[in-house]
Amino acid sequence: MTQLYYQSTRGNQERVPSATAILQGIAKDGGLFVPDTVPVLETSLETLQTLDYRQLAYQIMKLFLTDFTEDELKLCIEQAYDKKFDTPEIAPLQKKDGVSFLELYHGPTLAFKDMALSILPYLLKMAARKLNMNKEIVILTATSGDTGKAALEGFANVAGTKIIVFFPEHGVSQVQKRQMTTQSGDNTYVIGIEGNFDDAQSGVKSMFADQVLLQAMDERGYMFSSANSINIGRLVPQVVYYFHAYLRLCASGEIELGEEINFAVPTGNFGNILAGYYAKKMGLPVKKLICASNENKVLYDFFQSGNYNKNRDFVVTMSPSMDILVSSNLERLLYHVSGEDGSVTGRLMEELSSSGKYDIPEELKFGLRDFFGGYATEDDTARSIRELFLSSNYLIDTHTAVAYSVCREYEEVTSDPTKIIVISTASPYKFPADVMKSIEPRFAFADEFALLHEMSKLTGHDIPDAIKDIGTRPVLHKTVCETGEMKGQVEKILGI
Ligand SMILES: *Cc1c(COP(=O)(O)O)cnc(C)c1O
Repeated sequence: MTQLYYQSTRGNQERVPSATAILQGIAKDGGLFVPDTVPVLETSLETLQTLDYRQLAYQIMKLFLTDFTEDELKLCIEQAYDKKFDTPEIAPLQKKDGVSFLELYHGPTLAFKDMALSILPYLLKMAARKLNMNKEIVILTATSGDTGKAALEGFANVAGTKIIVFFPEHGVSQVQKRQMTTQSGDNTYVIGIEGNFDDAQSGVKSMFADQVLLQAMDERGYMFSSANSINIGRLVPQVVYYFHAYLRLCASGEIELGEEINFAVPTGNFGNILAGYYAKKMGLPVKKLICASNENKVLYDFFQSGNYNKNRDFVVTMSPSMDILVSSNLERLLYHVSGEDGSVTGRLMEELSSSGKYDIPEELKFGLRDFFGGYATEDDTARSIRELFLSSNYLIDTHTAVAYSVCREYEEVTSDPTKIIVISTASPYKFPADVMKSIEPRFAFADEFALLHEMSKLTGHDIPDAIKDIGTRPVLHKTVCETGEMKGQVEKILGI
């Protein structure tokens, strides 16, 4: 098998195996690691159709992680996709009202982040072992709500690691916040910041590039790594479920093997949908990747005009995990559509950091044809939840609702008859206040924990075990800091 290497989106000459890319998280020049070529699937879809989730994961991931042995990779996969998920299917497909929903929220924290973060700790530990790296790994994470808990769950009590999570104190649901602040494990640190997700993300990114801090850590036997989707070890496991979804749709007789389908993806940091783009490049028959934004519609505007502009008001919406104005992984797409040219990407990222915006060159626009950009207002989102519930007795969360709304709009404006799979990214139980209020105004009272019970009554399904007693669990993490104090907090934790 050909060896795959990873290089920076910003054009420096570093070329590393996947183990190094995973361990390091981010390239030395501040760029993101990308595979030097996207591997092409050699096994036929017919053959893949007979595999279960774990077997499929191996067939896909081995093409990206060519420096892992078969035993190493299979061990990681088996430890990750086990009874932590509440269904042996791992990611079930549900057809409701003519559309299929890929439910990616059956893991321990009830959001799709579990699909990658249940395996990342194993990949990371394995990578460290392969490279004879014996420093303590400090996972530094910014979260818009779901990554934080999924990363805490994945890394809690993992020997040789510490995990530090920064989240927007006023920008997540009560359930999300409580999930994080009640996290046990001696190696876990959870800190709220007086700022939004972009502030958290840029604070974390600047620590990754802070040479003085890195030096001080090195002297004390620490190294940083990332659990955010800037880490290629997060992206690769996400490619798997695009294949899985497609194959499930074939198995159900909805489509013929080889027929094209569309995916509608609720998008924030552009990690999930980028995994879909990789799946398409590998040979999965995908026609359009429908990129659904909430009112922070920076990506919609970008796909309309080729102009990216984060200089706008940040809107706090009911889909907080998508309240993002700087979508990190778009950098990887720019790299691929510019013909793997790091100098173009580097220049655009420089413009973004100096002026908050950039215009892509005309010739790059053609490369964006795989995508359709749409967005849902808060009203669209609420209406989608309500209508689907009334027609099908099926409850979706606020993020999935954004994608469902854009999916319906896409069908209407394009008349494209291609079957669509909506990527369902979180359980409605993570966002009980906004989901219940969308169904009926009388639920618009504040206590989310009481609403969990109302939701259970309404749907006839039990509250998921993962959050059943969330309202009464002791809060273990209470620190809140200003955005300018993030580095100080990290230094304090590490004794620097
Ligand atoms: C993180 C998240 C998203 C956005 O995914 P990206 O990979 O950041 O685009 C959407 N929905 C939910 C529930 C999430 O947690």
